[in-house]
Amino acid sequence: MLIVSEETCKEVVGRSDAFAAVESVFSAMASGDAYNFPVIREAIGHADALYGFKSGFDRAGLVLGLKSGGYWPGNMDRGLTNHQSTVFLFDPDTGQLQALVGGNYLTAVRTAAASSVSIAHLARKDAKVLGMVGAGHQAGFQLRAAAEQRDFEKVVAWNFHPDMLPKLGTVAEEIGLPFEAVEREQLGAEADVIISITSAHDPLMMKDWVKPGTHLACMGTDTKGKQEVDPELVAAATVFTDEIAQSTTIGEAQHAISNGLISDADITSIGDVINGTHPGRTSDSEITLFDGTGVGLQDLAVASVAARLAQEGGQAQQVQL
Ligand code: NAD
Repeated sequence: MLIVSEETCKEVVGRSDAFAAVESVFSAMASGDAYNFPVIREAIGHADALYGFKSGFDRAGLVLGLKSGGYWPGNMDRGLTNHQSTVFLFDPDTGQLQALVGGNYLTAVRTAAASSVSIAHLARKDAKVLGMVGAGHQAGFQLRAAAEQRDFEKVVAWNFHPDMLPKLGTVAEEIGLPFEAVEREQLGAEADVIISITSAHDPLMMKDWVKPGTHLACMGTDTKGKQEVDPELVAAATVFTDEIAQSTTIGEAQHAISNGLISDADITSIGDVINGTHPGRTSDSEITLFDGTGVGLQDLAVASVAARLAQEGGQAQQVQL
């Protein structure tokens, strides 16, 4: 059995590895070769924590396992990240534990890979301005991954807590992109691609603020009750997602669904676009929206890459159970 630490994950898994792993598992999900098992999520009544499991099996990639972890709000005071997770990988032929892999860094890169897969497949090729709504832990990862998908010339950004924006501006500077903090209306008027990655529970971007032809990747809404954009905007867009069952219940589309503005049939798996069974964007004026809810198979895909690369590089610890 292998143990792959957080530090080793950072050393071995790059953005292109995560992109390839996530694109491939989205493809396998759409073709029925990979599926997620029901998610367990519980308030444990201790330390105000939310704890759970996300698991699944990718028959095409032969990856079986689970990500276990959750949210411990008091961790900041202990110098730890509030979100904590660990991935367990099992041999699909024998059920034996294959690897224990740190899941914190991998969660950020796999989430950024999901929005960047959506940008690669759905954003206009001539997109020049990237709009960022959110400036928390995930936002920097999102910005770096998105910047590799198009020839962006500028980043415009807004955050509920404006004091967090300079840190995101530093990321833009590091990758050589001009960065401007703007109001939300201006962000919508300028951006060709918008990523939202917040913990908001109310719409932050309204339909009338967004230009025709925009691609949105809504990445923050992963729980019932969270919301980042106007349901009318979701209804006006062609909607794609990682997993339709999650999109309609815990993703951004939950609100447009419950308001009766759209139905399940209006939502397409991004894997269908990757596999060529859906055309994706069909005009330069179409608004496309990727509802990135986050599935366990994404975690297993990147953890499997981490375990393989760490083993190849002699960076994994071998333990006999
Ligand atoms: P974080 O705590 O580091 O940052 C939170 C962000 O939300 C900040 O930009 C903050 O200013 C903003 N925010 C907080 N309260 C707000 C409010 N009332 N209105 C608007 N904005 C508000 O969190 P993070 O790790 O960057 O995660 C951001 C979100 O992404 C969370 O909701 C998290 O659950 C979600 N997430 C989704 C996935 C996925 O796969 N889809 C993966 C990881 C995280």
